[in-house]
This record gives sequence, C-alpha cells and structure tokens, in this order.
Amino acid sequence: MISFLDLKQINLRHEEQIMEAVSRVLNSGWYILGNEVTKFEEEFAQYCGTKHCIGVANALDGLTLILRAYGIDKDDEVIVPSNTYIASILAVTANGATPVLVEPNLSTFNINPAAIEEKITNKTKAIMVVHLYGQSCNMQPIFEIAKKYNLKIIEDCAQAHGAEYQTKKVGNIGNASAFSFYPGKNLGALGDGGAITTNDEQLYMKLKALRNYGSHKKYENIYKGVNSRLDELQAAILRVKLKFLDEDNSSRRKIADYYLNNITNKHIILPIVENNVASSHVWHIFAVRTLNRSNLQTYFEEKGIQTLIHYPIPPHKQVAYQEWRNRSYPISELIHEQILSLPISPVMTLDDAKYVVEVLNAYR
Ligand SMILES: *Cc1c(COP(=O)(O)O)cnc(C)c1O
Repeated sequence: MISFLDLKQINLRHEEQIMEAVSRVLNSGWYILGNEVTKFEEEFAQYCGTKHCIGVANALDGLTLILRAYGIDKDDEVIVPSNTYIASILAVTANGATPVLVEPNLSTFNINPAAIEEKITNKTKAIMVVHLYGQSCNMQPIFEIAKKYNLKIIEDCAQAHGAEYQTKKVGNIGNASAFSFYPGKNLGALGDGGAITTNDEQLYMKLKALRNYGSHKKYENIYKGVNSRLDELQAAILRVKLKFLDEDNSSRRKIADYYLNNITNKHIILPIVENNVASSHVWHIFAVRTLNRSNLQTYFEEKGIQTLIHYPIPPHKQVAYQEWRNRSYPISELIHEQILSLPISPVMTLDDAKYVVEVLNAYR
C-alpha cells in the first residue's frame, strides 16, 4: 500500500530531537509565548528573508489578522483566486470585506494575472495571492497592477514553504504573508500552528498585539485583539523540523521530476512548472488532470495506491457561500472536476514513484 502521505513516518525521522524539544519546554516551566516561539520567529524570518515573523495559531487566523491590521473591512474588496482552499476566502469574509474571485490559469492552477485588472474597483484594497500546491504565482504582472492601483499584496503561503519567485522566497514577496504549520503541510507541526511574515514594521507591531488580546504589555489592551498565538510546544518542534525543510522539499522535487519525466499516459494532463524554474515549486501537492477521475481513483485504489482530491468542491459552490451558488467560474469548476493528487512526500521512495508511474501508464 502506498499511502498519500505517511505523517507518522515523516515525524518519527526526528523522534529524538522532537522528544528533546518537548522536554526542553516541559522543563522551562514557561508554556505560552516563551523562548521557543521567539526563537522560531527569528529562525523562520531568517529562512524567508523577511525582517519579521509573528507566530499565530493557524494560517486562517494569520490571513484574517493581516487584513484586519491593514484596516480592511466591510466597505472593501479583496481580490482572491476562485481556485483555492476555502481558508483564503474565509479570511476576507471574516473581516466583513467582499472577496472578488478571479479565475486561475488552467495549466498552473494559480491566479491568472491577466484576469485581475478588470475586477478592480474603487473599493479594492488588496490582492491575495495563493501559491497553490506549492508553486509560486507569476508575480511580476501582479506587482504592476498593485502599484498602479495602490493595493496591498497578501500572500497565502500555506502550501508553499520554501518556494521561490525569482530571487526571493515566498513570504518575502508581498506586503505580508501567512503560513500554515498544519501537520500535512511541507513544514508541519504536531498540531495546529501558523505564522505571518512581513517587512512592514508598523504592521509587525500591530500584529504582535492583535494575536495576544490586543496587548503589548500584560493587562494593557490597545486593540480589541484575539487569542491566536503559536503554541510554545509546537514552536519547539517546528524549530527541529525547519532545519530539514529544504532537504524535504528537494526530496519532493525528485518524486515530482520522476512523475513529470515518466508519466506518458495520454489520458493524463500533467502539471506545469512556470518558467521552468525548479525552485519556484515545492510540490506540496502533485495534481494531474483527467476526464474520468472517479474511474482512475478506483483503479489506483485497486492497485494499492492512495490518491486524494484537492479539492472536490470549489469555494463558490460551498453551502457556506450560498449567495454565490448561481455564479459561474468555469475554469475553477473544470479543475475541481478533473483534479487528482498523486502520492508525494519527503519519505516516499523512488521505487514507490516507479510503481505509481507503472500503474498509471498501464491505465486505459
Ligand atoms: C491549509 C491552508 C490554509 C489554512 O491553514 P490553517 O493553518 O489550517 O488555518 C489556508 N490556505 C491554504 C491555501 C491552505 O492550503
């Protein structure tokens, strides 16, 4: 059986160091916003190349707080991709703002920069880009639009830890970015976790307070903040795992390259790496498209290969957004109907990948 992602195996590689980190926290006697969170924030900022990092409870909170800190609310519009995980959009509506959905590029799955400008109104305040499946968006045209209309660029980096656009890592491209450390992400904790990265000093100061009841100093509250802190224990574990992120991403890249070079089945449409720059993709998900997906998925299952769908229902078709149910985003809908994610992970062997390819190429 080839599982989609063997989280237990991934984490047990670092059992000794993780247990040591847990023990360090246990023995410190300090369990909220202590040394481990501070150190992780420093180390993750350095990894991304940003001045600042603020640990938060998860990426949804991170995105929500960024928008809030920029003062984006009920009279404002935010450009978001129609093809994304629902959290990107939930962050906008959580602030009472209006998400304006923009269709993706069918071959990269990421927001199509050429479709953004026509959606801009005098209410637009920001563009949220999502580096979906681990691939950096095509940013140059987006920078130009943001500059022309004076918009903030917010990056949803929940699937793209370590991916690069030109010479910079994601998280250091826009005005502010949110990362998720949900266990299955490329950098995953043993529970929920998230972080915001930014070079914006003012935003940084505000977010440090917002995540902690609106307080910089105990019992003095300058904002109506929330409790959304990165857990001390998770921070200690993430410090261990951050050291292996680049290595893990390059293991993912090896599997992805093997798939790209060896899958020859005519029924399968392979994903595209934009600009052919390997470092722009960290392969959180290896998604192929096919016309008869449920057949293919059953066939894989019979051969002992687990596949998943990211995602089966587009955001505008979710019950939570019933008000959009009559809208049509055909490219996004097509992707949601045809997409299938093949197994990929840092602990998957080349033999496993060979078996997946052999099985897939034999599919008729
Ligand atoms: C996982 C994910 C999120 C949400 O992350 P949490 O930490 O679970 O809140 C947001 N956006 C995208 C694109 C994701 O994949």
